[in-house]
Amino acid sequence: MGLLTDFDQRDREAIGEELHSFARELYPICRSITGDGVRRTLAMIQDRIPIQVTEVPSRTQAFDWNVPREWNIRDAFVKSADGERVVDFEKCNLHVMNYSIPVHARMSLEELRPHLFSIPEKPDWIPYRTSYYKEDWGFCVTHNQLQALKDGEYEVCIDSTLVDGSLTLGECYLPGRTADEILISCHVCHPSLANDNLSGLAVATHLAQFLARRELRYSYRFLFIPGTIGAITWLARNQAATERIRHGLVLTCIGDNGSFHYKKSRRENAEIDRAVVHVLSHQTESAEFLEFSPYGYDERQYCSPGFNLPVGCLMRSVWGTFPEYHTSADNLEFIHPAQLAESLRVCAAVFDVLESNRRYRGLNPFCEPQLGKRGLYRPAGGGSIEEELNARLWVLNLSDGQHSLLDIAERSRIAFPMIRDAAELLHENGLLSVVSEDAAREKASPNVAVARRGQS
Ligand code: ZN
Repeated sequence: MGLLTDFDQRDREAIGEELHSFARELYPICRSITGDGVRRTLAMIQDRIPIQVTEVPSRTQAFDWNVPREWNIRDAFVKSADGERVVDFEKCNLHVMNYSIPVHARMSLEELRPHLFSIPEKPDWIPYRTSYYKEDWGFCVTHNQLQALKDGEYEVCIDSTLVDGSLTLGECYLPGRTADEILISCHVCHPSLANDNLSGLAVATHLAQFLARRELRYSYRFLFIPGTIGAITWLARNQAATERIRHGLVLTCIGDNGSFHYKKSRRENAEIDRAVVHVLSHQTESAEFLEFSPYGYDERQYCSPGFNLPVGCLMRSVWGTFPEYHTSADNLEFIHPAQLAESLRVCAAVFDVLESNRRYRGLNPFCEPQLGKRGLYRPAGGGSIEEELNARLWVLNLSDGQHSLLDIAERSRIAFPMIRDAAELLHENGLLSVVSEDAAREKASPNVAVARRGQS
């Protein structure tokens, strides 16, 4: 029995609603790479799972980078001569270019214009812009809004602060039987954007809730961190600990209607890459697999050559390719309960593979063992009889101590859970033994149990 069996027994519709409603709660918060938006977001995740929050002071060096000053914002507007807030941060936090320095001035439309950004092709959408590493200010508006502005004097106010403070990192650690880790990372730095940011965050939080209730082989580390600088800072502070990371996934843009896309790790054929490809290839939904590239989300940092961690990126629509990307149209209507729930299920299926992937050695390698006399020739399960028997024969044939269950699933084209169930049955019947290295690796480590108590 694997994680997935457990997952499938839950009500998919209810899970989808839960995921979407969590995204809805988080949506209004004005997040950025630093500041109270991230803290509030982490506090809401903390209501659901144990999170360790770390504050890293501004100016702290992290490899070639420095933690920037902390940004916070209370209000912002552009007011016309008759006192109307023609651009209003309170209506949508995307209206302010993220990390805008404070401004309070009167200026003509001509002076204001270079600070206004819109999308002429999508006249009702507000673009999302940032200026983290260059001091600047600006407003993002719909093109219709921009065109409606009349000549005249405007009062421009961005009531923000950019001062020494800290960068906030959130981490949830779930200890398993081994200290070997699976890393799940998602960014928490975008303001009101749903697919890009909240979908990953909601799925990761629920995944942690789901895994926390189970006996696990691997330890799991969930990172809720600001994009780029958060990942770089976390890696700089945890360089030695990254050696324990065996598999990793960046989760982002997994709530929309698009089909699944998986971007492979820099290693290209790591176990995580193979596990995701296997799971997605056995789904009814279509999926596409992308080779590694050094651009994208935080897999860029995890897969930088010095680390070269086996971390891939799971998405539905790929960032930058859908028109709603980085605009106000990436909103709560753009993500859907059913898609969020299916993304969560795919993640559970991938971890299910990693949790049970191991090597066995057949104890009767000379010719087929006689399955009939052990009652194993007539499968008892509800599945296809041929397929169950086929899975047993494949497992017996390839369990020579070299092939893992994932190798067998790939080669036989049989879905992993059926291969795993066959192996467990054959093991129970004394026909297989677990390869000793794999068995030793999984022996309970008392340190891990202590760490669990220490963390909670
Ligand atoms: Zn983004």
